[in-house]
Amino acid sequence: DPQVDIALVRSWIRSVAAAVDAHKDQLTEYDSAIGDADHGANLHRGFSAVLDALAAQEPATVGDVLVKTGSTLVSKVGGAAGPLYGSAFRAAGKKLTEPTADTREFGEALAAGLESVRRLGGAAPGDKTMVDAYAPALEAFQRVAAEGGGLAVAARAAADAAEEGVRATVPLQARKGRASYLGERSVGHQDPGATSTALVFGALAEAAEA
Ligand code: ADP
Ligand code: MG
Ligand code: MG
Repeated sequence: DPQVDIALVRSWIRSVAAAVDAHKDQLTEYDSAIGDADHGANLHRGFSAVLDALAAQEPATVGDVLVKTGSTLVSKVGGAAGPLYGSAFRAAGKKLTEPTADTREFGEALAAGLESVRRLGGAAPGDKTMVDAYAPALEAFQRVAAEGGGLAVAARAAADAAEEGVRATVPLQARKGRASYLGERSVGHQDPGATSTALVFGALAEAAEA
């Protein structure tokens, strides 16, 4: 039965914006170690604009909310992560063309989001990017959904798997994005984009459990 509706996804995105706000400095700290110290600011600017855009929107479908989120991120956030997150939310939204969706359909939308990140960024698991949080999160979500689990359980499993994926980025050497310029010096640091992806899935679990 449908567990995802417009109110739920709006609450998800608001919760992402709150998490980005709360973790802005932490994200920037991680990005200062292996990047250019702007990841927190980039996402904060993006999700602030998303909040404004959603407040002005009267969505007819679940997808409308996510497509608006993605388009806003693409237009407001430079760097690598903005276009990657933007394309993920847009691709996910394009799958959700009704006012509600069930958990399995929502999982398919999340899968389209990851596909879009991988197509645009060319990163595979193990390259020390947001894919290292997104891929295990998606796998966990779909496993629970396939077993007939509800949205809150699937989203919590996804959030936990994302957290584990984030920790697993620490010993990796970056092979994509700005951190890859550091070569071996990227080893020993947590990837900022994977960290923010875990926030996105944590926010989904929070919204679904509310
Ligand atoms: P920039 O590196 O342009 O300053 P951000 O700091 O906002 O952009 O984002 C950096 C994060 O983007 C990295 O930590 C990584 O997770 C992610 N990233 C960078 N390049 C790629 C890529 N090709 N595919 C997937 N994720 C990427
Ligand atoms: Mg950066
Ligand atoms: Mg930058």
